[in-house]
Amino acid sequence: MIILNIGDELTYGQVVNTNASFMCAQFTAAGFPVEEVVVIGDNAAAIVDAVAAAFQKTDILVISGGLGPTKDDITKQQICHYFDVPLVENAEVLCQIEALLANRGVAMSEINRLQAQIPQGAIAMPNYLGTAPGLWLEQHNKLLIALPGVPFEMKALLIEEVLPRLKARFLHDGHNEHIVHKVIQTTGIPESTLSDKLESWEMALPPTIALAYLPRPGIVRLRLTGQSCDLAQLEADMNCQIEKLTQLLGEHIFSYENNQIEEVVAALLLRKEPATLACAESCTGGYLSHLITSVPGSSRYFKGSIVSYSNEIKRNILNVRELNLKKHGAVSEYTVNDMAINTLGLFETDYSIAVSGIAGPDGGTPEKPVGTVWIAVATPTRIVTREFHFGDFGRDRVIQSSAIAALNMLRLELLRDL
Ligand code: ATP
Ligand code: MG
Repeated sequence: MIILNIGDELTYGQVVNTNASFMCAQFTAAGFPVEEVVVIGDNAAAIVDAVAAAFQKTDILVISGGLGPTKDDITKQQICHYFDVPLVENAEVLCQIEALLANRGVAMSEINRLQAQIPQGAIAMPNYLGTAPGLWLEQHNKLLIALPGVPFEMKALLIEEVLPRLKARFLHDGHNEHIVHKVIQTTGIPESTLSDKLESWEMALPPTIALAYLPRPGIVRLRLTGQSCDLAQLEADMNCQIEKLTQLLGEHIFSYENNQIEEVVAALLLRKEPATLACAESCTGGYLSHLITSVPGSSRYFKGSIVSYSNEIKRNILNVRELNLKKHGAVSEYTVNDMAINTLGLFETDYSIAVSGIAGPDGGTPEKPVGTVWIAVATPTRIVTREFHFGDFGRDRVIQSSAIAALNMLRLELLRDL
């Protein structure tokens, strides 16, 4: 299957192509893998070329966009041109449009009437949310499906009309290709180290299972995609592979779901009826607290944070010792230890996190280059402090990586205390 999204707004970059991601996810889950997504503007020649090129490679082409009644909507005409058929008025579609317009209290215009014209031989799939019907046109073992560009109209048609028709037409019991995705989220291990560690396991994966690395700052998501007609066997094979991954990666895995690390931390804090938390943030400037408070119900364990960006606040509010600031600097083990311990006392919590680092682009030195970050996690009985080097890859990335690393350090301490 190939997806073709049509619209000048897409090629100009004015509208994000959300139709493509929705269509790909739905078709894949239904057992129709998408080989290619093509995006073009509202241009007659480009549409005919794209349809011809797609049918060289695939038997099913799904189009979105340009089905409307305005002059810039030319998809229908170009489909006729490609299949060499005329546009003909469809009585049923005309009735549906009349009903839709009557419902909205609008009189039928000539332009609306044109909406009832569809390529000869096509089946019109009713669109209850707009005036342009979806089109289903089969010729010489090639199937073209055309849907309106408006996302909610496209989605309704795809779910209610296209998927049931596709399944009835192409999928038969026992021969269905099932596609199953599983996500394993890791942190605290760079992508390159991870792929070295997983190399022999990856090489030994059965042919029905494929692995993808999906990195973002501080986190690498591993996605296993299984494809097979035998769903029970596939599920068993995937679980077996996840078991092996768990043995290889241990504590680096923080989740087997598509959730956030702050949600994992939240669940651990709540297991301790609930344990309380406070932060002292320098280089993250409140971003760590933002992540923590983005989880609903965080007020049950999060008491607050001090954004101690200046040395003055570190000294006066957090009681960081002058000697430590002078001798070791704001970005040091000594300073984050003072920050974490005094935050624990100030907020009277069970856990505290302190972060201090150099986000860049300025402020780096040969001993402490941009990306150097110290993080401490304290409890009333112990403190764990670590130095990180996130590199000079942009301020945002250092800030995000620091917050994820801080949450991960807290996660590991919470696991230890379970
Ligand atoms: P209409 O009857 O509204 O003219 P249409 O089928 O002609 O429907 P378009 O004119 O191509 O659809 O698009 C209508 C609107 O839908 C666009 O302005 C755009 O905001 C949105 N849209 C179109 N294509 C996409 C897409 N691929 N992803 C997200 N939004 C889209
Ligand atoms: Mg339009």
